[in-house]
This record gives sequence, structure tokens and C-alpha cells, in this order.
Amino acid sequence: MSIVSVIKVDRYDTALLERAVDEHFDRLGLSGEIKPDMKVLIKPNLLSARKPECVATTHPEVVLAIIKKLRSLGVASVTVADSPGGPYLSANLSSVYSACGYKRLEEYAALNHSTGSGKVRNEAGRVVKEFDIIDPIREADYIINVAKLKTHSLTGMSGGIKNMFGAIPGLVKPEMHYRFPAIGGFSEMLLDLCETLRPNVTFIDAVIGMEGEGPNMGTPKDCGYFLASRDVYAQDEVAAGIIGIPADKVEMIRLAKERGLFDPGETVLVGDSIECMNFSLPQTDDDSYLSGIPSFMRGTVGFFAKRFLKPVPAVSKKSCVGCGKCAESCPQHIIEIKNRKAVIIKKSDCISCFCCQEMCPAHSITVKRRLRR
Ligand code: SF4
Ligand code: SF4
Repeated sequence: MSIVSVIKVDRYDTALLERAVDEHFDRLGLSGEIKPDMKVLIKPNLLSARKPECVATTHPEVVLAIIKKLRSLGVASVTVADSPGGPYLSANLSSVYSACGYKRLEEYAALNHSTGSGKVRNEAGRVVKEFDIIDPIREADYIINVAKLKTHSLTGMSGGIKNMFGAIPGLVKPEMHYRFPAIGGFSEMLLDLCETLRPNVTFIDAVIGMEGEGPNMGTPKDCGYFLASRDVYAQDEVAAGIIGIPADKVEMIRLAKERGLFDPGETVLVGDSIECMNFSLPQTDDDSYLSGIPSFMRGTVGFFAKRFLKPVPAVSKKSCVGCGKCAESCPQHIIEIKNRKAVIIKKSDCISCFCCQEMCPAHSITVKRRLRR
């Protein structure tokens, strides 16, 4: 049986969130297993240096409520750590903590500033048997995964499974995209990662989610949900239902089911009921792409589009500020900065991972469809 605890929380209010965290801990029986001498690690989604109201990152009030609960249990060592997009450098971590509203958490917990990492092996991995993992996660006794519910240009959605990708340091992440250019392989890698690290519990901040061009450039979507579960896979399936994507269309969830990592028939929702919030999907989603086409033509157009067209990024020269973040994160190394503008020099080598779009601070990268070669 996999319990997914569901609580409706309509705003980032400290008292509401603290009560909700207490309730999640009770329902999942967490208090009895977290010991004061454990090194407890909180892994939020700190994708990039964006303010909480941009909804790209886990809201700091959610993390604070969890930290306070841990302190009330007498836990002495609580560390907050993630590897945001871009290079894994102390200066980058500081600017992400500042922008995302995490600096004030320092009063209650340690914010990780170290940039070390090391290998963690899992012989049972299907496509990856050894991962490079940031030190605070590698060294933790107890991992609390605190995801943000968002749409995602590559994986369809970002919840608990995808959030664990931030355990991999900085520019090793684009290397993973390079090794696994297709969504199937990339999703298998994410499952191997989750099975290697096995977060003890996962919370999903869906108080306000992100719809549209997630995970970084979408828009806020009022949802009013705060979820928690020990089963990261079952919980993501529930979260897909909130977004309104069939879970079988999300490759990482479909593969988790196929691997037997969870059984949807064994999921038990405890607490409030779930409603589909009908998020708008990214332009990379085939259904979103077809939405402007009359319904009687969608079947035929969709068939040819999926076969012959692939989504690729396009740079708006007008808004591009030439910062180079897209080039830095491109696993194929096909973006160059020329005359202070980004140029995709070999579109045929693009693997449609959309790391470039994810990292662009100027919203200068949109999605176009071009003929497959
Ligand atoms: S151009 Fe963008 S979408 Fe294409 S491979 Fe590079 S980062 Fe990925
Ligand atoms: S990240 Fe965006 S703004 Fe920066 S160079 Fe690339 S396209 Fe231009």
C-alpha cells in the first residue's frame, strides 16, 4: 500500500503550512523514525535564481515548515541542498538562495555552500550503475525530497521523480542529457537515480504550481494542494492527475509502473480529494501543439507531425542579452554567442532537451517545429 497524503492549502501561510506538515508527518508515521542524531537533508527544487512568485522553485515557507518540524523532533543536523542549473559553484548557490528567498532559513538550518561531489553506485541500475552526487545528499542519513509541481518541456511534468535530478552536480547534468538524448533513456536514468538515492519521503509543493513553458519559463497556476508520500512514484502519478496529463504519457511514470516500482492499484489517497486542474501544457507537448487545429483534423495532422516534425528551440535575437547560459548548458555544444546574441549553429544535432530554454533568464527561447532528418 502506498499512502499519498493530500492537504488543501490555498496560500503560503506559515501557520497553515506548519499544521499541514504536522498532519503529513502523522499520517505517514514519520516522527517515530527520524532520530535527533541523524543528518537530515532537505532537497528542494532550486532550479535557478528566481523569486518565489515566479513559481520555478519550491516556496521557502514550505521548506521552513518542514525544518521547524524537524527541529521540534530534536534533529540537530538539518541541511538544505540542491544543485541548480549552470555550474555548481558557491557563488551561484549564494545567488540562488538569495533570489529564491532561502537566506532567512539560515536561522533554522544550514544552507549548503560546499561544491564537492562523489560517486554512488547501484549495481541494480538499468542504464546507470554509478552517479556523481553532491556531497550533502551522498552523506545524508535521511533524505526529504521537496518538489514543486510544474509542467516540463522534456519530461511532461516535474514532481518528485524529476526533482531528484538536482542531486547531480551542475554541468554533469547536461552530460546526462548527452548520454540519454531520447526521453525513454532519460526517464530510465531518472528512475535509476531515484532507486540509488531512495528519498525517505517526498513532499510536493502544489500550492501554486507552474503551467505552460515549465520548468522555468511557465506561469503560475493556483492549485491549492500540498502532497506527501513515502512513495515518490505513486505520488507523481497522483500529481499528473492534478496537472491533467494521463500518467501513461509521462514516460518516467509509465516506466516506473512497467519496472514494478509501484502498483497504481495499491495507492491510497488520505485526506482531501484530488481534482484535475487542467494545466496548460508546454509547446513541446504534441497535444498542446495541436490545440489550434480543428478537432476533426488532429488525428491526421498529429500522426504526420509526430513522425516528421521535431520540436527545436528558436532564439529571439531581440530579447537575447548574450549571457551565454544557454551555451553553457547545451549538452550538444551547438550554441555559440556571436555579436552578443545566441546562435544555434547545428540545429540537426539538437536533441530537444530544452536545457537552453530552461536556463535562459530573458525568456528568449521558444519552440519551433522542424523536419526531422
Ligand atoms: S540547442 Fe537546446 S534543446 Fe538543443 S541540444 Fe542544445 S540545449 Fe538541448
Ligand atoms: S540564455 Fe537566453 S539571453 Fe542568454 S544568451 Fe542564451 S538565449 Fe540569449
